[in-house]
Amino acid sequence: MAKTFIMYDQICKTHLAGSGHPENPARLDAIVSALQNEDQNSELVWQSPEPAREEDLFGNHEAGYVDLVRDSVAAGRHSLGYPDTGISNGSWDAALTAAGGLINAVDLVMEGKAANAFCPVRPPGHHARPGMGMGFCLFNNVALAARHAMKKYGLDRILVIDWDVHHGNGTQEAFYQEQEVFFFSTHQEAWFPFTGERHETGSGKGRGTNMNFPFSAGAGRDEILPAFTGHLVPTMDEYKPQLVLVSAGFDAMQGDLLGRFNLTEDDFARLTEIAMEIAGKHASGRLVSTLEGGYNLDGLARACAAHVKTLMQGG
Ligand SMILES: [Zn+2]
Repeated sequence: MAKTFIMYDQICKTHLAGSGHPENPARLDAIVSALQNEDQNSELVWQSPEPAREEDLFGNHEAGYVDLVRDSVAAGRHSLGYPDTGISNGSWDAALTAAGGLINAVDLVMEGKAANAFCPVRPPGHHARPGMGMGFCLFNNVALAARHAMKKYGLDRILVIDWDVHHGNGTQEAFYQEQEVFFFSTHQEAWFPFTGERHETGSGKGRGTNMNFPFSAGAGRDEILPAFTGHLVPTMDEYKPQLVLVSAGFDAMQGDLLGRFNLTEDDFARLTEIAMEIAGKHASGRLVSTLEGGYNLDGLARACAAHVKTLMQGG
C-alpha cells in the first residue's frame, strides 16, 4: 500500500535569510525531530528531492527574476533587493531543492507511488510573485507544483489550500486569471502582505476560482473551520479538483511569533482531514502538502507532527 512520503534534504538548511531571522534552519531541525518521533514504526518514506531545473521555474517565474536570484547568490549578495528576501551562498541550491521537492511529490502521487506527501522545505514560497521575491520566499513552490501538474499530466482542476496566517498573495497572483487552479486561503486580516480580501475572487477565465477568508487577530477553530466545512467543501463538490495542494503554514498556530491566530495541533489535524476528504472524494486521494510559515519552534513541531500523523492515515 502506498505510504506518506516526506520530501526532505538538508540542503534546504543552507539558505540563510540573515542573522536572528525567524525563518531559519532550526525550523527544519524541529520538524524532522518531531516527525521522526512520530514515525516509531517507520511508516513514513523519507526521500531526498531532485532539485528543480531552471526550465521548471520558468513555468511560474519571469526569466529576468530567475536570473536575478541565480546571479545575486553567485555574486555573494545578502539580499535580492526586495524587502524580506535575505539570501546566502546556499540559497540557490536550497530554493531549487525546495521547488524540486514539490515537483517530485506531484510525480509520486500522480503515479500512485505515494499516498500523499509532505515537503518540509525552505525557503517557503507562497509570497513569491511571478516577477519578484517577497516575504521570505524566493520561488513559489506550490505554484510550481501546480504548473508541473498542469504541464506533465494535463490536469485542469487543481485546488490549492493555504492555511498560513498570512495571505498567499504570490499564489493568488499566479492563477488569478486562470480557472485551472482554485486558490482558497484563510488568513489574518490587515496583516502582511495586506492582500486577500473577500472580494478578490479571480478575473477573466479565473473568475470564481479564488476564495479568501480573512479573519481578525485572535481567530481560531470557531472561525476557520466553518470556512472549510461551509464554503470550501461544497465549492469543491462543484469544482471537483483532480489534485489537492496544501500551503501548510503553521504560523496560524497559537503562540506563533508572526501571527495572532489560535489554532491548536488538533485543529491542524482536522484541517488536514478536510483536505484529505476533498482529495479522497474527487482526486483519488492525491494530496501534496508543503511547509510555508511557522516560527515558534515548539508549536511548529507539534502542529507539523499532527498534520503528518493525519496524512499517514490516508496511506
Ligand atoms: Zn506565514
